[in-house]
Amino acid sequence: NKQVILKNYVTGSPKESDMYVSTNGTIKLKVPEGSSGILVKNLYLSCDPYMLHLNNMKNYGADNTNSKPPVTPLVGYGVAKVLDSEHPNFKKGDLVWGITGWEEYSLITDFQILFKIQHTNVPLSYYTGILGMPGITAYTGFYEICSPKKGDHVFISAASGAVGQLVGQLAKLLGCYVVGSAGSKEKVDLLKNKLKFDEAFNYKEEPDLDAALKRYFPEGIGIYFDNVGGKMLDAVLLNMRPHGRIAVCGMISQYNLNKPEGVHNLMHLILKQVQIKGFVVSDYYHLFPKFLDLVLPHIAEGKIVYVEDIVEGLELGPAAFVGLFSGHNVGKQVVLVSKE
Ligand code: NDP
Repeated sequence: NKQVILKNYVTGSPKESDMYVSTNGTIKLKVPEGSSGILVKNLYLSCDPYMLHLNNMKNYGADNTNSKPPVTPLVGYGVAKVLDSEHPNFKKGDLVWGITGWEEYSLITDFQILFKIQHTNVPLSYYTGILGMPGITAYTGFYEICSPKKGDHVFISAASGAVGQLVGQLAKLLGCYVVGSAGSKEKVDLLKNKLKFDEAFNYKEEPDLDAALKRYFPEGIGIYFDNVGGKMLDAVLLNMRPHGRIAVCGMISQYNLNKPEGVHNLMHLILKQVQIKGFVVSDYYHLFPKFLDLVLPHIAEGKIVYVEDIVEGLELGPAAFVGLFSGHNVGKQVVLVSKE
């Protein structure tokens, strides 16, 4: 049972060498007697920016500076096929998405975040992205947190990524003016041409983010969907419209800093009476059926498209994950473990 294992506790930016691929793990392809678990074959694994931090917290606690991680596979989201089940809700042959291990086969005994896949007329990998955790994050953040209306002027950072590309398309379908920022010309072209954003810009080539935002939002930003935090958030605060809304979804620019940057322009929240709210997607999984009802028909009709960046083989998982922090991924970063 090939597995991706954390070699060192990660402080600062994760490196490929913080993980290794082991071929020593063995697993019986049967659920042990007396367990109510399921045995799955992992098909696709999802690279999510906050994944390693969750692994650190889950397994190792806060103060882990002087110890070594246990030899267990990384925990993350994935799509898998049930090979054996002692659980009444799952049977052999079912397809599932949710929390699994970064390994070929996993014994799952915690079912809090594990969903049976009902619709298979889409690529299965979509359940790591548009139809999985990032998809419902986009839906929740936009509809539940931003209170959007037709005509709103919407700005999205890390806009070509797993979450951002769906936020932008949902906003366009509602009739909003949508601008995204991303870190390369290729991504900017993707946003404008394939994902049909009204405008997009490369934030790495903008010496003055405030001036860039003023160029695209001369009358101010109505909704900001924040995936990055830091300097971009600070510049956005200077450009919000009165009564604007900010959904704080993620702060990828801050995750790997030992000391997060300060945000200086918070006073503009008062002056412009802006609402700002963070959210964690796992509190909104009850909305999943409603989310599917909205998004599945749009996918079938080609009104919503989704860009994926799929690497083949568990061995490439560590590099794919680390690449999220330099923007190496173009679209949702997925690791293909097995096609069936
Ligand atoms: P992406 O697919 O967008 O991948 C991450 C992207 O972030 C990179 O491709 C890169 O794009 C950008 N990035 C990396 N480093 C920086 C930096 N220092 N400054 C600005 N941008 C950077 O990831 P997701 O769509 O999966 O996640 C987007 C955000 O949403 C993350 O912050 C994530 O943690 C958060 N999230 C929050 C959830 C919640 O429950 N609140 C649930 C899921 C995700 P580029 O080339 O454009 O720089």
